[in-house]
Amino acid sequence: MTEESNHSGKLFVISGPSGSGKGTLTRALIERSNAVLSVSSTTRGAGPNEVDGTDYFFVTKEEFESKIAAGDLLEYAVVFDNYYGTPAGPVKKLLAEGKTVVLEIDVQGGLQVFENMPSACGVLIVPPSEKELHRRLVSRGRDEAKVIEKRLEKARWEIETAHSSGKYLFEIVNDDLETAINELVNIVTGS
Ligand code: 5GP
Repeated sequence: MTEESNHSGKLFVISGPSGSGKGTLTRALIERSNAVLSVSSTTRGAGPNEVDGTDYFFVTKEEFESKIAAGDLLEYAVVFDNYYGTPAGPVKKLLAEGKTVVLEIDVQGGLQVFENMPSACGVLIVPPSEKELHRRLVSRGRDEAKVIEKRLEKARWEIETAHSSGKYLFEIVNDDLETAINELVNIVTGS
C-alpha cells in the first residue's frame, strides 16, 4: 500500500513569490469553492490582524523543532529566517474524508510535498514582470529597500526553481486579479 492509496481528496500546492498576489488569490479560491486551506505552523510573530489557529499556528522555535523531530510535518522550510511548516495530520485527515485541500507554501516546501505525495498538483502564481513585482513591493510600503531587494532575489530563485523542477504544472500570471481568480478556481474545481 502506498502512502497515498487511502487518500481520495485532491491536494493542491499554491506557490509564488511575495508580491505575486498568491495570498489574495488563495483567499478568493477558498471563498468561491469547497476547498479547505491548511493552516501552517510558523515561528514568526503574529501581525496585528492575524489570529492564532486561523492564519497560522504561532509557535516557538523549540515547539517547531519538536514537531520536526516527531515527524509531524508534511514539509517545512526556513523562509526569511523563520520556520514555516504544514502539519501532516490535518491534511491527511481531510484528504481521507475526500476533501480538496490547498497548501499555500513556498517552493522549497512544495518540492518536498511533490516528493512525499506525487499526486499533489502544483500551481505557480507569478507577477506579470519583475518590474511590476518591484512596484508592488514598494507600494505596499511594508519593507525597506534592502528587504525589497532580498524579496526580489528570492522571487527570481523561486520562479526559476519551480520552472526547472517541472512539478508546477499550472502557472497563473496575476495581471488582472479577477481573471487570475477565475483561472485558479477553474484549475482547482475542474481538474
Ligand atoms: P508570510 O510570512 O508572508 O505569511 O509567508 C512567507 C512565505 O512563507 C510565503 O511565501 C508563504 O507561502 C510561505 N509559507 C507559509 N506557510 C508555509 C508552510 O507551511 N510551508 C512553507 N514551506 N512555506 C510556507
